[in-house]
Amino acid sequence: MNTLVIAEMALDQPASASLEHLAVARSLAGEGRVIVLLLGAQIAAAESLIARGADKVIVGTPSAFDGYNSDAWTACAASVANEHAVALVLAAHTPRGADLAPRLAFRLNGACATGCVGVEQQDGALHFTRASHGGNVRETLRFKTECVVATVRAGIYDALPVDAKRQGEIVTLSPAPASRVRVIERKRESGVGVRLEDAKVIIAGGRGLNGPEGFDVLATLAETLGGVVGASRVPCDLGWCSHAMQIGLTGKTVTPELYIAVGISGASHHLAGCGNAKTMVAINTDKDAAIFRDAKFGVVGDYAKVVPALTAAIRALPTTS
Ligand SMILES: Cc1cc2nc3c(=O)[nH]c(=O)nc-3n(C[C@H](O)[C@H](O)[C@H](O)COP(=O)(O)OP(=O)(O)OC[C@H]3O[C@@H](n4cnc5c(N)ncnc54)[C@H](O)[C@@H]3O)c2cc1C
Repeated sequence: MNTLVIAEMALDQPASASLEHLAVARSLAGEGRVIVLLLGAQIAAAESLIARGADKVIVGTPSAFDGYNSDAWTACAASVANEHAVALVLAAHTPRGADLAPRLAFRLNGACATGCVGVEQQDGALHFTRASHGGNVRETLRFKTECVVATVRAGIYDALPVDAKRQGEIVTLSPAPASRVRVIERKRESGVGVRLEDAKVIIAGGRGLNGPEGFDVLATLAETLGGVVGASRVPCDLGWCSHAMQIGLTGKTVTPELYIAVGISGASHHLAGCGNAKTMVAINTDKDAAIFRDAKFGVVGDYAKVVPALTAAIRALPTTS
Protein backbone atom coordinates (compact mmCIF):
# COMPACT_ATOMS: atom_id res chain seq x y z
CA MET A 1 0.00 0.00 0.00
CA ASN A 2 1.41 3.40 -0.96
CA THR A 3 0.89 6.10 1.64
CA LEU A 4 1.25 9.85 1.48
CA VAL A 5 2.21 12.01 4.46
CA ILE A 6 1.51 15.72 4.20
CA ALA A 7 4.25 17.13 6.37
CA GLU A 8 4.29 20.42 8.21
CA MET A 9 7.24 22.51 9.31
CA ALA A 10 8.01 23.88 12.78
CA LEU A 11 10.35 26.79 12.08
CA ASP A 12 12.97 25.27 9.77
CA GLN A 13 12.50 21.60 10.80
CA PRO A 14 9.79 19.09 9.92
CA ALA A 15 7.26 19.20 12.80
CA SER A 16 7.57 16.38 15.33
CA ALA A 17 3.96 15.32 14.57
CA SER A 18 4.89 14.84 10.90
CA LEU A 19 7.79 12.60 11.93
CA GLU A 20 5.37 10.56 14.02
CA HIS A 21 3.00 10.25 11.06
CA LEU A 22 5.88 9.17 8.89
CA ALA A 23 6.53 6.30 11.33
CA VAL A 24 2.85 5.26 11.16
CA ALA A 25 2.92 5.40 7.36
CA ARG A 26 6.10 3.32 7.30
CA SER A 27 4.59 0.64 9.54
CA LEU A 28 1.41 0.44 7.45
CA ALA A 29 2.98 0.66 4.01
CA GLY A 30 4.48 -2.85 4.03
CA GLU A 31 6.08 -3.32 0.61
CA GLY A 32 4.51 -0.06 -0.60
CA ARG A 33 6.15 3.35 -0.79
CA VAL A 34 5.95 6.17 1.70
CA ILE A 35 5.75 9.50 -0.09
CA VAL A 36 5.97 12.81 1.74
CA LEU A 37 4.64 16.09 0.41
CA LEU A 38 6.47 19.01 1.97
CA LEU A 39 5.32 22.40 0.78
CA GLY A 40 6.93 25.71 1.66
CA ALA A 41 10.20 24.14 2.83
CA GLN A 42 13.82 23.87 1.82
CA ILE A 43 15.48 20.74 0.38
CA ALA A 44 17.51 20.20 3.59
CA ALA A 45 14.27 19.41 5.43
CA ALA A 46 13.44 16.80 2.78
CA GLU A 47 16.72 15.01 3.40
CA SER A 48 15.90 14.65 7.08
CA LEU A 49 12.56 13.04 6.15
CA ILE A 50 14.30 10.35 4.08
CA ALA A 51 16.41 9.54 7.16
CA ARG A 52 13.17 9.12 9.15
CA GLY A 53 11.52 6.64 6.80
CA ALA A 54 10.33 8.38 3.61
CA ASP A 55 11.00 6.75 0.23
CA LYS A 56 10.27 9.87 -1.74
CA VAL A 57 9.89 13.50 -0.70
CA ILE A 58 8.17 15.95 -3.00
CA VAL A 59 9.20 19.46 -2.01
CA GLY A 60 7.66 22.75 -2.94
CA THR A 61 10.22 25.39 -2.00
CA PRO A 62 9.14 28.67 -0.38
CA SER A 63 9.73 30.53 -3.63
CA ALA A 64 6.85 28.57 -5.21
CA PHE A 65 4.76 27.73 -2.12
CA ASP A 66 4.93 30.71 0.18
CA GLY A 67 2.53 29.94 3.04
CA TYR A 68 -0.63 27.86 3.12
CA ASN A 69 -3.14 28.26 0.31
CA SER A 70 -6.00 25.72 0.57
CA ASP A 71 -6.76 25.74 -3.15
CA ALA A 72 -3.20 25.27 -4.43
CA TRP A 73 -2.19 22.82 -1.71
CA THR A 74 -5.27 20.64 -2.26
CA ALA A 75 -4.65 20.54 -6.02
CA CYS A 76 -1.03 19.66 -5.44
CA ALA A 77 -1.76 16.94 -2.85
CA ALA A 78 -4.50 15.44 -5.05
CA SER A 79 -2.20 15.24 -8.03
CA VAL A 80 0.57 13.57 -5.96
CA ALA A 81 -1.93 11.12 -4.40
CA ASN A 82 -3.34 10.17 -7.81
CA GLU A 83 0.05 9.84 -9.45
CA HIS A 84 1.27 7.45 -6.73
CA ALA A 85 -2.08 5.64 -6.29
CA VAL A 86 -1.99 6.09 -2.53
CA ALA A 87 -4.55 4.32 -0.35
CA LEU A 88 -3.87 6.42 2.74
CA VAL A 89 -3.03 10.08 3.26
CA LEU A 90 -1.94 11.23 6.73
CA ALA A 91 -1.92 14.88 7.75
CA ALA A 92 -1.35 16.60 11.07
CA HIS A 93 -4.41 17.46 13.16
CA THR A 94 -3.68 21.17 12.98
CA PRO A 95 -5.83 23.98 11.58
CA ARG A 96 -4.01 23.49 8.27
CA GLY A 97 -4.44 19.70 8.27
CA ALA A 98 -8.08 19.97 9.30
CA ASP A 99 -8.70 22.43 6.45
CA LEU A 100 -6.89 20.39 3.84
CA ALA A 101 -8.04 16.85 4.72
CA PRO A 102 -11.77 17.04 3.81
CA ARG A 103 -11.04 19.02 0.64
CA LEU A 104 -8.49 16.44 -0.43
CA ALA A 105 -10.76 13.49 0.48
CA PHE A 106 -13.51 14.99 -1.68
CA ARG A 107 -11.10 15.56 -4.56
CA LEU A 108 -9.90 11.93 -4.33
CA ASN A 109 -13.42 10.55 -4.02
CA GLY A 110 -12.27 9.11 -0.71
CA ALA A 111 -13.25 9.19 2.95
CA CYS A 112 -12.02 11.48 5.70
CA ALA A 113 -11.34 10.81 9.39
CA THR A 114 -10.16 13.75 11.49
CA GLY A 115 -8.49 13.87 14.90
CA CYS A 116 -7.46 10.21 14.89
CA VAL A 117 -5.67 8.75 17.89
CA GLY A 118 -5.06 5.42 16.19
CA VAL A 119 -4.58 4.15 12.64
CA GLU A 120 -4.20 0.40 12.40
CA GLN A 121 -4.45 -2.39 9.92
CA GLN A 122 -6.60 -5.36 10.91
CA ASP A 123 -7.59 -8.21 8.60
CA GLY A 124 -6.26 -6.25 5.65
CA ALA A 125 -8.41 -3.19 6.34
CA LEU A 126 -7.49 0.19 7.82
CA HIS A 127 -9.16 1.13 11.09
CA PHE A 128 -9.26 4.70 12.35
CA THR A 129 -9.90 5.44 16.03
CA ARG A 130 -11.02 8.88 17.14
CA ALA A 131 -12.88 10.59 19.97
CA SER A 132 -16.61 10.97 19.58
CA HIS A 133 -19.52 12.45 21.58
CA GLY A 134 -17.43 15.26 23.05
CA GLY A 135 -14.55 12.97 23.93
CA ASN A 136 -16.69 10.69 26.09
CA VAL A 137 -16.35 7.67 23.80
CA ARG A 138 -13.96 6.45 21.16
CA GLU A 139 -15.19 5.20 17.81
CA THR A 140 -13.35 3.03 15.33
CA LEU A 141 -14.11 3.63 11.67
CA ARG A 142 -13.55 1.51 8.60
CA PHE A 143 -14.23 2.83 5.11
CA LYS A 144 -15.19 1.23 1.83
CA THR A 145 -13.43 3.85 -0.30
CA GLU A 146 -10.15 3.17 -2.07
CA CYS A 147 -8.45 6.10 -0.41
CA VAL A 148 -8.77 7.57 3.09
CA VAL A 149 -7.45 10.93 4.24
CA ALA A 150 -6.87 11.11 7.99
CA THR A 151 -5.61 13.78 10.35
CA VAL A 152 -3.75 12.29 13.29
CA ARG A 153 -3.22 13.95 16.65
CA ALA A 154 0.30 14.69 17.83
CA GLY A 155 2.10 12.79 20.56
CA ILE A 156 0.41 9.44 19.93
CA TYR A 157 3.18 7.65 18.03
CA ASP A 158 6.96 7.64 18.28
CA ALA A 159 9.02 8.90 15.35
CA LEU A 160 11.51 6.48 13.83
CA PRO A 161 15.14 7.02 14.79
CA VAL A 162 17.35 8.82 12.27
CA ASP A 163 18.96 6.45 9.78
CA ALA A 164 21.49 8.55 7.90
CA LYS A 165 22.18 5.67 5.49
CA ARG A 166 18.61 5.50 4.15
CA GLN A 167 18.30 6.32 0.48
CA GLY A 168 15.35 8.09 -1.09
CA GLU A 169 14.25 10.28 -3.92
CA ILE A 170 13.75 14.04 -3.62
CA VAL A 171 11.70 15.83 -6.27
CA THR A 172 11.11 19.56 -6.46
CA LEU A 173 7.71 20.93 -7.47
CA SER A 174 7.46 24.21 -9.29
CA PRO A 175 5.46 26.30 -9.88
CA ALA A 176 2.47 26.03 -7.50
CA PRO A 177 -0.84 25.19 -9.22
CA ALA A 178 -2.99 28.15 -10.16
CA SER A 179 -5.32 29.16 -7.33
CA ARG A 180 -8.61 31.00 -7.00
CA VAL A 181 -7.62 31.90 -3.44
CA ARG A 182 -5.76 35.12 -2.85
CA VAL A 183 -4.04 35.49 0.52
CA ILE A 184 -4.47 39.09 1.59
CA GLU A 185 -2.58 39.06 4.86
CA ARG A 186 -0.77 36.62 7.16
CA LYS A 187 -0.21 37.23 10.85
CA ARG A 188 2.31 35.11 12.66
CA GLU A 189 1.51 34.24 16.30
CA SER A 190 4.41 35.43 18.40
CA GLY A 191 5.71 32.42 20.24
CA VAL A 192 8.99 31.66 21.90
CA GLY A 193 10.44 28.49 23.30
CA VAL A 194 9.05 24.99 23.28
CA ARG A 195 5.76 24.22 21.51
CA LEU A 196 2.91 22.89 23.66
CA GLU A 197 2.92 19.62 21.71
CA ASP A 198 6.59 19.05 22.58
CA ALA A 199 6.54 20.35 26.18
CA LYS A 200 7.47 18.06 29.07
CA VAL A 201 5.82 20.34 31.63
CA ILE A 202 2.58 22.26 31.02
CA ILE A 203 0.78 24.61 33.39
CA ALA A 204 -2.72 25.10 31.98
CA GLY A 205 -5.19 27.72 33.14
CA GLY A 206 -8.97 27.79 32.90
CA ARG A 207 -11.89 30.05 33.66
CA GLY A 208 -10.98 29.81 37.35
CA LEU A 209 -8.09 32.22 36.72
CA ASN A 210 -10.79 34.89 36.58
CA GLY A 211 -8.92 37.08 34.08
CA PRO A 212 -5.83 37.42 31.88
CA GLU A 213 -3.58 38.41 34.81
CA GLY A 214 -3.85 34.84 36.08
CA PHE A 215 -1.73 33.72 33.14
CA ASP A 216 1.18 35.83 34.42
CA VAL A 217 1.01 33.87 37.69
CA LEU A 218 1.11 30.60 35.71
CA ALA A 219 3.96 31.88 33.53
CA THR A 220 6.12 32.38 36.62
CA LEU A 221 5.50 28.79 37.73
CA ALA A 222 6.13 27.55 34.20
CA GLU A 223 9.42 29.41 34.06
CA THR A 224 10.43 27.93 37.42
CA LEU A 225 9.68 24.40 36.22
CA GLY A 226 11.01 24.89 32.68
CA GLY A 227 7.50 24.43 31.31
CA VAL A 228 5.01 26.04 28.95
CA VAL A 229 1.62 27.67 29.64
CA GLY A 230 -1.55 26.23 28.06
CA ALA A 231 -5.25 26.86 28.53
CA SER A 232 -8.74 25.42 28.43
CA ARG A 233 -11.07 26.78 25.77
CA VAL A 234 -12.89 29.30 27.95
CA PRO A 235 -9.99 31.73 28.55
CA CYS A 236 -9.08 31.53 24.85
CA ASP A 237 -12.66 32.38 23.86
CA LEU A 238 -12.74 35.19 26.42
CA GLY A 239 -9.57 36.67 24.91
CA TRP A 240 -7.51 36.19 28.08
CA CYS A 241 -4.89 34.27 26.10
CA SER A 242 -4.09 33.18 22.57
CA HIS A 243 -6.15 30.48 20.82
CA ALA A 244 -2.85 28.80 20.04
CA MET A 245 -2.73 27.83 23.74
CA GLN A 246 -5.99 25.85 23.69
CA ILE A 247 -5.73 22.23 24.75
CA GLY A 248 -8.55 19.77 24.15
CA LEU A 249 -10.86 18.25 21.62
CA THR A 250 -10.84 21.31 19.39
CA GLY A 251 -7.41 22.43 20.55
CA LYS A 252 -4.05 20.77 20.84
CA THR A 253 -3.27 17.28 22.06
CA VAL A 254 -0.44 17.23 24.54
CA THR A 255 1.45 14.43 26.26
CA PRO A 256 3.70 16.04 28.89
CA GLU A 257 5.36 14.34 31.84
CA LEU A 258 3.64 16.82 34.15
CA TYR A 259 0.34 18.65 33.54
CA ILE A 260 -0.82 21.15 36.16
CA ALA A 261 -4.47 22.10 35.56
CA VAL A 262 -5.27 25.36 37.34
CA GLY A 263 -8.89 26.51 37.65
CA ILE A 264 -10.00 23.93 35.09
CA SER A 265 -13.12 21.89 35.86
CA GLY A 266 -12.12 18.80 33.87
CA ALA A 267 -14.70 18.70 31.06
CA SER A 268 -14.32 15.72 28.72
CA HIS A 269 -13.63 18.16 25.86
CA HIS A 270 -10.58 19.43 27.71
CA LEU A 271 -9.37 16.02 28.90
CA ALA A 272 -9.52 14.75 25.30
CA GLY A 273 -6.37 16.83 24.74
CA CYS A 274 -4.43 16.16 27.94
CA GLY A 275 -5.71 12.83 29.30
CA ASN A 276 -2.48 11.11 28.26
CA ALA A 277 -0.27 13.30 30.45
CA LYS A 278 1.95 11.12 32.60
CA THR A 279 1.17 12.92 35.86
CA MET A 280 -1.71 15.34 36.26
CA VAL A 281 -1.98 17.79 39.16
CA ALA A 282 -5.14 19.84 39.74
CA ILE A 283 -5.58 23.09 41.64
CA ASN A 284 -9.22 24.00 42.09
CA THR A 285 -11.46 25.63 44.69
CA ASP A 286 -14.16 22.99 44.21
CA LYS A 287 -13.28 19.71 45.89
CA ASP A 288 -15.88 17.95 43.72
CA ALA A 289 -14.48 19.22 40.40
CA ALA A 290 -14.26 16.42 37.83
CA ILE A 291 -10.57 17.16 37.20
CA PHE A 292 -9.70 15.55 40.55
CA ARG A 293 -10.85 12.19 39.15
CA ASP A 294 -8.03 12.29 36.58
CA ALA A 295 -5.44 14.06 38.71
CA LYS A 296 -2.85 12.07 40.61
CA PHE A 297 -2.30 14.96 43.03
CA GLY A 298 -4.68 17.75 43.86
CA VAL A 299 -4.88 20.94 45.90
CA VAL A 300 -8.26 22.33 46.89
CA GLY A 301 -7.79 26.08 47.11
CA ASP A 302 -7.63 29.46 45.40
CA TYR A 303 -4.98 29.39 42.69
CA ALA A 304 -4.01 32.99 43.51
CA LYS A 305 -2.65 31.70 46.84
CA VAL A 306 -1.64 28.16 45.89
CA VAL A 307 0.37 28.84 42.71
CA PRO A 308 2.67 31.59 44.11
CA ALA A 309 3.24 29.45 47.24
CA LEU A 310 4.08 26.43 45.05
CA THR A 311 6.44 28.53 42.91
CA ALA A 312 8.21 29.87 45.99
CA ALA A 313 8.51 26.39 47.50
CA ILE A 314 10.01 24.99 44.29
CA ARG A 315 12.46 27.90 44.05
CA ALA A 316 13.52 27.25 47.64
CA LEU A 317 14.45 23.64 46.84
CA PRO A 318 18.18 22.95 46.72
CA THR A 319 19.38 22.73 43.11
CA THR A 320 21.01 19.51 41.96
CA SER A 321 24.04 19.87 39.76
C1 LIG B 1 -17.64 20.65 20.63
C2 LIG B 1 -16.91 21.23 21.82
C3 LIG B 1 -15.53 21.27 21.79
C4 LIG B 1 -14.83 21.76 22.89
N1 LIG B 1 -13.46 21.78 22.84
C5 LIG B 1 -12.80 22.15 23.94
C6 LIG B 1 -11.37 22.12 23.96
O1 LIG B 1 -10.69 21.80 22.97
N2 LIG B 1 -10.74 22.47 25.10
C7 LIG B 1 -11.41 22.85 26.23
O2 LIG B 1 -10.78 23.14 27.24
N3 LIG B 1 -12.76 22.93 26.22
C8 LIG B 1 -13.45 22.61 25.10
N4 LIG B 1 -14.80 22.72 25.11
C9 LIG B 1 -15.47 23.36 26.27
C10 LIG B 1 -15.62 22.42 27.44
O3 LIG B 1 -16.81 21.69 27.33
C11 LIG B 1 -15.67 23.22 28.77
O4 LIG B 1 -16.69 24.17 28.68
C12 LIG B 1 -14.36 23.91 29.11
O5 LIG B 1 -13.29 23.01 29.03
C13 LIG B 1 -14.45 24.48 30.51
O6 LIG B 1 -13.32 25.26 30.74
P1 LIG B 1 -12.84 25.53 32.22
O7 LIG B 1 -12.60 24.22 32.91
O8 LIG B 1 -11.71 26.48 32.12
O9 LIG B 1 -14.07 26.33 32.85
P2 LIG B 1 -15.15 25.87 33.90
O10 LIG B 1 -15.81 24.61 33.51
O11 LIG B 1 -16.02 27.04 34.14
O12 LIG B 1 -14.30 25.57 35.21
C14 LIG B 1 -13.64 26.54 35.95
C15 LIG B 1 -13.08 25.86 37.20
O13 LIG B 1 -12.30 26.79 37.92
C16 LIG B 1 -12.53 26.55 39.31
N5 LIG B 1 -12.17 27.79 39.98
C17 LIG B 1 -12.90 28.94 40.09
N6 LIG B 1 -12.20 29.88 40.75
C18 LIG B 1 -11.01 29.32 41.10
C19 LIG B 1 -9.87 29.80 41.78
N7 LIG B 1 -9.80 31.06 42.27
N8 LIG B 1 -8.82 28.93 41.96
C20 LIG B 1 -8.86 27.67 41.49
N9 LIG B 1 -9.94 27.17 40.82
C21 LIG B 1 -10.99 28.00 40.63
C22 LIG B 1 -13.98 26.17 39.40
O14 LIG B 1 -14.23 25.43 40.58
C23 LIG B 1 -14.16 25.34 38.15
O15 LIG B 1 -13.92 23.96 38.41
C24 LIG B 1 -15.54 22.24 24.02
C25 LIG B 1 -16.93 22.19 24.03
C26 LIG B 1 -17.60 21.71 22.94
C27 LIG B 1 -19.10 21.66 22.98
